[in-house]
Amino acid sequence: MIIKNVTVIDGTGSAPRPGTDVTIADGHFTDLRPTTAPAPGSHADDQVLDGRGGYLVPGLWESHTHLTGHAMAVPETERVAHLRGQLDDYLKAGITSVCDLGGSVAYGRQAREAVRPGTAATLFYAGPCFTGPEGWPLQIHGDRTMALETGSAEDARRTVRELLGQVDFVKCIFDGKDGERLPLAALEVIVAEAHAVGKNVLAHVATGTDVRDAIRAGVDCIEHSFVPQDAADLAEAERIAALMAEAGTLFCPTVVTWEQLGHNGDRAHLDRLVADRVITAEEAAEIAARPAYGKPFPHHPADESRIRFDYAMRALPLFRDAGVKLVAGSDIALTMPTPTSALLRELQLFAQAGLDSSEIIAAATSRAAEKIGKHDTVGTVTVGAVADAVLLDADPLTDIAHLIDPQHHRAVISAGLLAHH
Ligand SMILES: [Zn+2]
Repeated sequence: MIIKNVTVIDGTGSAPRPGTDVTIADGHFTDLRPTTAPAPGSHADDQVLDGRGGYLVPGLWESHTHLTGHAMAVPETERVAHLRGQLDDYLKAGITSVCDLGGSVAYGRQAREAVRPGTAATLFYAGPCFTGPEGWPLQIHGDRTMALETGSAEDARRTVRELLGQVDFVKCIFDGKDGERLPLAALEVIVAEAHAVGKNVLAHVATGTDVRDAIRAGVDCIEHSFVPQDAADLAEAERIAALMAEAGTLFCPTVVTWEQLGHNGDRAHLDRLVADRVITAEEAAEIAARPAYGKPFPHHPADESRIRFDYAMRALPLFRDAGVKLVAGSDIALTMPTPTSALLRELQLFAQAGLDSSEIIAAATSRAAEKIGKHDTVGTVTVGAVADAVLLDADPLTDIAHLIDPQHHRAVISAGLLAHH
C-alpha cells in the first residue's frame, strides 16, 4: 500500500513532514520519502491511497483499561466474542492498540488470538495484578484469578516468575495503608525479575508517598494522578515531577477516571460532556438512567476523586515542563457511552489542561508503546514500525478535535490493512 502526498506526524514529537509518500508492506512501514515520481520498487498493482490534504498519525492507544476484568460480568460462553467485539469498536475509533491492566490471563490470550491482524485492535495484557493481602481491587470482585495477593518479597518472586512467561507486562496495585499495601520489598523484587526478562512494570498509586516509593523501586510508569496532601499547593506535584523526570518514569494520570468518579450523578457534568461533543444528549440520558449512575464507587469517594481531578488538571503542565513523558489511558468508562469515548475524553482533557497537540499525539501513541516497552516496534509512523495509523482529513496540530472526532478519520490502518468503517 502507498499513501501518496500526505503530511506525516510520526508520533515522536518531530516536526510534521508534508508532501510525503508512505509505503507499507508486510504489515510494516517500509519507506517514507518526499512525494515525487513513483517510489522505486512500487508496482502498478499496489493499493494507492490519496493523502492530499490529509494527515497521517500513528494509530491511537488506550494504554489503561480492564477489558478482561469487565468481561467477567458477561456469561462465560460469550466472553471471548464480547472482547472481540470491543476490540473491533476500538479499531473503528482509530484506536489500534489496547493495554489491559489487570484481568484474567486466559481471556487476554483468547481475545488476542480471536483477532486476525488488521481486523480489530491489538490487545496487550498484564493478566492478574499484584496487590497486598486483601488489597484493592479484591474488595470489588473477590476474584483471585485477577489479583495476586502478595505479602512478602518471597511470595512476589515465586509468583512473578510464573507469570512473566504469560503476559506482556506486569501491573502492581501499590495503594493502601501499611500492611495492606503491596510491600515495597515485593515491588522491588517484581521490578528486578520483570526487567531481567525485558518486561515493564506499571504501578497503580494513591498518594504522593506511593508515587515516590514506586519511582525509587524502579517501576516504568505511574498509573493515576495522586491524592495531594494539600489541594491548594502544587509544590508536591513539582517535587514528584522532578523525581519522575530524573528517573525517566512515565506518567499515565487517567484524569478522566477522576473526572467521572468525582462527578458521578452530577447532571451538569453530563451537560459539559455534551457541550464538549464527547457524548450526545441521547447518550447523556442513557447514562443518567443506568442503575450505577450516582451510586458511590467502592474505594474511591467522589469528593476525593474531584480533588484528584482538579489537582491533576492544574499539575499536568508542571509535569510536561519538568520533562516527564505523559501517557494517555482512561481506566474506566463509568459515565461514558462506550470505553472508546473515555480515551477520547482523556485526550480532550489533556488539551484543556494546556498540553499542545503534538504532546497529546505522542502521549496517545509512541509513549503508550514505550510504557509497555514496545516503542521500537509499534506506536510511530517510522520505517520498520508496525503499520498502525489513522489518516485524518484535517490538521490535528491546529485542533485536537481533528484527532479525536472519528468524523475526521478518512481511514484507519491496522497492521498494514485498511480497516472498514
Ligand atoms: Zn485501572
